[in-house]
Amino acid sequence: MADCTRLAKCPFFNDQMADMPSMANIIKQRYCRTDSSQCARFMVADVLGPEAVPQDLYPSQVDRARAILEGRA
Ligand code: SF4
Repeated sequence: MADCTRLAKCPFFNDQMADMPSMANIIKQRYCRTDSSQCARFMVADVLGPEAVPQDLYPSQVDRARAILEGRA
């Protein structure tokens, strides 16, 4: 259980994404406040840097994150 190191600057955590899901607070609790290693945004930022994270990437979109990391997206 630990806060994500990207919390302060993350558009998802700071409600800056165009379409925030209705379950946003639950998602924040699960990823941002507990285990960021499972977060799609964190995965991409950790390897490629925060500028490589698509604006609209949601924490649960791990398949999309993998595709980006493998150069398929
Ligand atoms: S959405 Fe992901 S990268 Fe952003 S603060 Fe939450 S866990 Fe960290």
